[in-house]
Amino acid sequence: WNYHLTHFVTSAPDIRHLPADTGIEVAFAGRSNAGKSSALNTLTNQKSLARTSKTPGRTQLINLFQVAEGYRLVDLPGYGYAEVPEETKLKWQRSLAEYLHDRHCLKGLVVLMDIRHPLKELDRQMILWAVQSGREVLVLLTKADKLASGARKAQLNAVREEAKTFLGTVEVELFSSLKKIGVDKLSQKLDSWYRD
Ligand code: GDP
Repeated sequence: WNYHLTHFVTSAPDIRHLPADTGIEVAFAGRSNAGKSSALNTLTNQKSLARTSKTPGRTQLINLFQVAEGYRLVDLPGYGYAEVPEETKLKWQRSLAEYLHDRHCLKGLVVLMDIRHPLKELDRQMILWAVQSGREVLVLLTKADKLASGARKAQLNAVREEAKTFLGTVEVELFSSLKKIGVDKLSQKLDSWYRD
C-alpha cells in the first residue's frame, strides 16, 4: 500500500454518523499531545492531513481518511484533556468504547503514547476494550527521539512486558515522527491488517 496517496474523506461527530460499516478500517487513538497527528502526517508524508486541535474541550470529530477505495484510516478524538468537563469525558469514552466494540470493519487499533509517559489509565482502557472485542493492537511509543538509546530500549522492553498482560495481540514498537523511527514497522503492520 502506498500511504502517501491517503486523502481526507469526511468527519463525523460520533460513531452513529460514520460511513457504512464496510471495507477495512484501522483506527488511531491516543491521549491528546501523544503525537497522533504527527504520526499520521509522517505515515502519509503530508504536512497537514491530520491537524491538532489546540482547543481542548471543543467538540472533537472523528476524521476519516482513505488509503484506497474501502480501506480507511480513522483518527479518533484525543483523550485525557485535564480541562474537559467530566460529562464530556464520559461521553467520549462511551463513544470510543462503542466504536471499538461495534464497528465490524475495524481490523486493528494503533495506540500512540509518549515514550516518557506510557500506559496511562485511559491507554490501558483503550487497549483492553480493543482486545476484548478481538482487535489487534499496535502500540507506538512516540517521540522516541526524546530518550537516549539505552533508556529507549529499556522503556520498549518494559512496555512489551506489560503488553503481555492484556491477553491479546498487543505489539509494541518505537516511533518518532521527527527522526522517522518506526515508520516502516507501522506501514508493514497496516499492510498486514489491510491484507485480509
Ligand atoms: P496529537 O495531539 O496526539 O495529535 O499530537 P501532535 O502530533 O500534535 O504532537 C504533540 C506535540 O508533540 C507537538 O508539539 C509535536 O511537535 C510534538 N511531537 C510529535 N511527534 C514528535 C516526535 O516524534 N518527536 C518530538 N521530539 N516531538 C514530537
